[in-house]
Amino acid sequence: MQQIAERTGAVLRIDLQAVRFNYRLLRDRLSSALCGAAVKADAYGLGAGEVARVLYEEGCRHFFVAHLEEAIALRPGLPIDAHLIVMHGSPVGCEAEFIEHGCMPVLNSLAQIQDWSALARRHEKALPAIVQFDTGMARMGLSPQEVQVLQNDPEVCRGIDVQYVMSHLACAEDQANPMNRQQLEKFQTLRALFPLSKASLANSSGILLGEEFHFDLARPGAALYGVAPVAGQKNPLRAVAYLQGRIIQTREIPAGTGVGYGSTWRSQETSRIATIAVGYADGWLRSLSNRGVAHIGGYAAPMVGNVSMDTITLDVTKIAPTLLQPGTLVDLMSATNTVDDVANKANTIGYEILTSLGARYHREYSDQISTE
Ligand SMILES: *Cc1c(COP(=O)(O)O)cnc(C)c1O
Repeated sequence: MQQIAERTGAVLRIDLQAVRFNYRLLRDRLSSALCGAAVKADAYGLGAGEVARVLYEEGCRHFFVAHLEEAIALRPGLPIDAHLIVMHGSPVGCEAEFIEHGCMPVLNSLAQIQDWSALARRHEKALPAIVQFDTGMARMGLSPQEVQVLQNDPEVCRGIDVQYVMSHLACAEDQANPMNRQQLEKFQTLRALFPLSKASLANSSGILLGEEFHFDLARPGAALYGVAPVAGQKNPLRAVAYLQGRIIQTREIPAGTGVGYGSTWRSQETSRIATIAVGYADGWLRSLSNRGVAHIGGYAAPMVGNVSMDTITLDVTKIAPTLLQPGTLVDLMSATNTVDDVANKANTIGYEILTSLGARYHREYSDQISTE
């Protein structure tokens, strides 16, 4: 293990204990609703297999992915009572694969509903699904007019066991945004048309909007992985992803020396530069050029110059050379320099930082089952 880690430029440590902690914290905010989990995009880049396994142990039974392929990949690792829910619905012509692999589609359009209903009729049995309404994102789900079509012609849904109706919030991390209540009210109106189905609205941030938003099943993703769910508030969740990059070499440069592509940074004085083996090919976004910060033995070292494909450069002038030996790991993301801190510097959101985490990193998972 250790030897392999040393062949790589960086080590990504994923704290599954923190995922458990975050799941419990979110679940405890829900009064009667179940807490599912969004594990799409390889659990936001952190490893869907590992994450889903510990969440199952914590009692999670509803796992949301985007694509059928993601659900099929997860199926063998999870017990049969775990629901694998494909948010994009069935790709045209793939409906039968949902039955074969024990997955459930979210039906987002009348066409998807018709295809699922046709399959149910061919199999002569009710097939479970979730029906999504668009309440204000204009992205996926039935418009209120299309919901009306279902109301007027119950035949369209024949054979479909609509276990849940769902919708998705556009602005939930901004608690003061009037969109939240508007979407809630639209959702309440539409769900009343499906009195036999349960309902799901809240993502991570939606859980923290309060009980009215909880319904029967929540679908948090980002908060499980440590991303702050409420803009501008202290984050109650634990960091999950810890990234360390390796020093390849250091050099002293005279005042006025340009560093990196484009010479976008120049030393003001005699300086020491450390080159770290992480770059934009590893998801360390180029927008972090001249903006990021690393920590070495607790000292902050600013990133200077443009991010290269395989390297970044740090100004380590103020750091003792004994801390800068080649091979030393420096902290790029941690509980103190969080995914949200990195995202702010990169002008993006924590979601994008996590889902960009590179395939070249040596990954280590830590977990110890705590007894609450
Ligand atoms: C990704 C996603 C979620 C999870 O959202 P987070 O903001 O990560 O908690 C929930 N529902 C839908 C429809 C999604 O696409």
